Amino acid sequence: MTHLTDKHGRTITDLRIAVTDRCNYRCVYCRTGTDGPLYSDLPFSDYLRMARLFLELGIEKIRITGGEPLLRNGVVEFVRELSKLRTWRGIPPEVALTTNGHLLSGLAQPLKDAGLSRVTVSMDAVDPDRFARITRVSHGYESVLDGIRAARSAGLDPVKVNCVLVRGFNEDQVPAFGQFARQEGIVVRFIEFMPLEEDRVWSPATVVRLEEILARMAEFQPLVEIPRGASETALRYRFADGIGEIGIIAPVSHPFCGHCSRVRITSDGKIRTCLFSVWDHDLAELMRRGADDATVLQFIRGVVDRKEARHHIGEPGFVPASRTMVHIGG
Ligand code: SAM
Repeated sequence: MTHLTDKHGRTITDLRIAVTDRCNYRCVYCRTGTDGPLYSDLPFSDYLRMARLFLELGIEKIRITGGEPLLRNGVVEFVRELSKLRTWRGIPPEVALTTNGHLLSGLAQPLKDAGLSRVTVSMDAVDPDRFARITRVSHGYESVLDGIRAARSAGLDPVKVNCVLVRGFNEDQVPAFGQFARQEGIVVRFIEFMPLEEDRVWSPATVVRLEEILARMAEFQPLVEIPRGASETALRYRFADGIGEIGIIAPVSHPFCGHCSRVRITSDGKIRTCLFSVWDHDLAELMRRGADDATVLQFIRGVVDRKEARHHIGEPGFVPASRTMVHIGG
């Protein structure tokens, strides 16, 4: 077996599969305006075949995303089927899920029982009114909190919470999130806002950068940096008193493209080699035409080999991605 690599020498081990691009939230940093076109979902059997073939090429972790993946009926069964697959080492892949958490409370235990290893819940405020202003959904906060707690009780470990910070909306929530992480026993990860939203409201001024996040958190408690693995995207910190951990994902101010290990499949079955790709590669169409496994494997290798070297956020001449985040799968 030769690993899936690209021409820049990176080894690709992480696959993200979006199982729908529908979402029940309209977060201000994602679904900023028009709903945008919806792409069709594929039957789960198609994603399963794709996953099996990617695993043959050295993928070790699969993350289910969207859109909102828990809107899709059959997602628990999909997790069960994914967990039966094997990596090239002959072991089950690590199967994770990213969700807004709205429907998680009733699904956490069935997902865990089906083989889910980990869950990441997006939550951008620890105050119900602020949460509603960001997600543009009223009464979502309580459902998400219930979802996070249900995930912990189900034994999904660790439960991570992703918080996208957007200037003017939630940067003052940083210390409260520190408290929340410690209280709930979860890892909160702050994410810098990227230009992947629908109506292009992003500007450098809207980004709350790593240094500012650290300074805001230091007002709550001093932090100590934790050494991180080579392909980890988050900078990790623990609180100086040893209780609680946070992370910061800083693709804008501290890009990590040089050790990116990811590739994505959109809900309509296109391969995207970078969040900021300006084109994608139609794997579903190749499969519909009846391509055998060997042909599909060759196609995947060729596409991944041409993975972009890096993103160009904030540079003159930046070309926006051909899809917005909700239609890619974050
Ligand atoms: N619906 C699920 C959720 O809310 O987690 C999964 C899909 S969502 C697109 C995946 C992740 O992308 C979420 O953590 C979300 O906060 C993040 N995200 C969306 N738009 C973003 C943007 N413009 N910049 C940074 N992160 C973004």
